Amino acid sequence: MSREDGSVQVIVIGAGVAGLAAAHHLHEAGVQVLVLEGRDRIGGRVWTDRTWADIPLDLGASWIHGVRGNPIAQLASELGVETVTTDYDNLVLYDWDGRRVTPSEQAELEKWVEQLLTAAADLGDGLENDISLQEGINQVLAGEPLTATRQRQLNYALNTLIEHEYANDISQMSLRYWDEDEEFPGDDVLFPGGYDWLVQVLAVGLDIRLNQVVSQVIYDQNGVRVITNGGEFAAAQVIVTLPLGVLQHGTVQFRPPLPQTKQDALQKLGFGVLNKLYLRFPTVFWDKEADLLGYMAANKGEWAEYVNMYRVIGQPILLCFNGGTYGLAIEKMGDEAIVAAAMHTLRTLYGPDIPAPTDWLITRWGADPFARGAYSSPGVGARNWDRDLLAEPISGRVFFAGEATIANYSATVHGAYLSGQRAARQILAR
Ligand SMILES: Cc1cc2nc3c(=O)[nH]c(=O)nc-3n(C[C@H](O)[C@H](O)[C@H](O)COP(=O)(O)OP(=O)(O)OC[C@H]3O[C@@H](n4cnc5c(N)ncnc54)[C@H](O)[C@@H]3O)c2cc1C
Repeated sequence: MSREDGSVQVIVIGAGVAGLAAAHHLHEAGVQVLVLEGRDRIGGRVWTDRTWADIPLDLGASWIHGVRGNPIAQLASELGVETVTTDYDNLVLYDWDGRRVTPSEQAELEKWVEQLLTAAADLGDGLENDISLQEGINQVLAGEPLTATRQRQLNYALNTLIEHEYANDISQMSLRYWDEDEEFPGDDVLFPGGYDWLVQVLAVGLDIRLNQVVSQVIYDQNGVRVITNGGEFAAAQVIVTLPLGVLQHGTVQFRPPLPQTKQDALQKLGFGVLNKLYLRFPTVFWDKEADLLGYMAANKGEWAEYVNMYRVIGQPILLCFNGGTYGLAIEKMGDEAIVAAAMHTLRTLYGPDIPAPTDWLITRWGADPFARGAYSSPGVGARNWDRDLLAEPISGRVFFAGEATIANYSATVHGAYLSGQRAARQILAR
């Protein structure tokens, strides 16, 4: 029911997974909720593209990371949504010149990097002030000059294991706290039919207004007013699920301004980039049975990782990832130049006669004004409690959710989902 003055009880800003989960929870509890979304679609960083009519492809999140105990996996299973497991160890790895790296070389590399990270962690434990993970590794390696091959191996491992997972360069990440987060156990699965089933399910019955770009959130003891390009909306409470990148950018004004502790926390956390390129070919010319293809590029982070989509959807499609500095750099390149750069690498691996792609899909998450990056990461000096500070409600009026606001499961869909439920519970508890 609307309140007498025409306002609603709760406004949720953002129709990503966090916002939809919050609104869904409140709606189920009988609370009147209005969701304001700046884009012309729901889902936010869960975005299934259907340009290729026969093949839904995820431009944002793809995987459930760890299915056991994971609320998204539970929902998927209840609804009978089809999943396919990815085995990250089912990897074919190539050196910069196209030579295949043997499994024993891979195992040796893995062991060495593990030892290096353990030594860096030990170093971090003994430091009074945090430094970057890159600096920590440099210090561990000081006095041990690396051969060009070793350096390439190290770059590859750090880039694909850490920088892709956190969507940021290790020079921007905390040595002491970079892996404070938790994981659900079990397989990593993705959805051949697209991840958007989740947002469709959560959105059922909700009042969602698209193309409402929020510019101001005004709050006092009487309630909240949210100003958008389309007008003004009033409510008793608001749940803000804006991505950390958007909050850092300051395009949405809070009146009064957010408390200093919150502002400090949101600047300490990192928000980098992970971009995807899907290449569609007439035939599969790569290692058909592998889940992943790896490339130890001469330049760190350039075209290092490919998902074999043939294993997932039976189509001759490769998904290429670039994160951090290089992921951001390619955003400034035109589509043709990006595809040419990817093809240069693929020709190194599979020869000059491989077919040209017939089509492609390219993301530019950094340039997206409604995301300003891919997801949050632990910046130097940032701790999990900075996420708790971000999540803290203000004056019983302004509540927060979103992947960056959840300490244990940040940067994930399940984290966004759990944060939305948390904000809804906070409101219901009042
Ligand atoms: C390339 C990529 C790959 C990923 N891979 C995975 C993966 O495999 N597995 C996984 O678990 N997670 C993955 N993630 C992370 C996951 O997608 C996010 O953690 C999650 O979707 C975030 O949900 P959210 O609701 O917090 O934010 P969002 O989905 O970003 O929702 C926020 C909403 O606010 C809206 N908004 C922004 N500004 C305004 C404004 N001014 N006014 C109104 N609305 C506004 C946005 O449009 C958006 O809809 C990936 C993300 C990316 C980008």
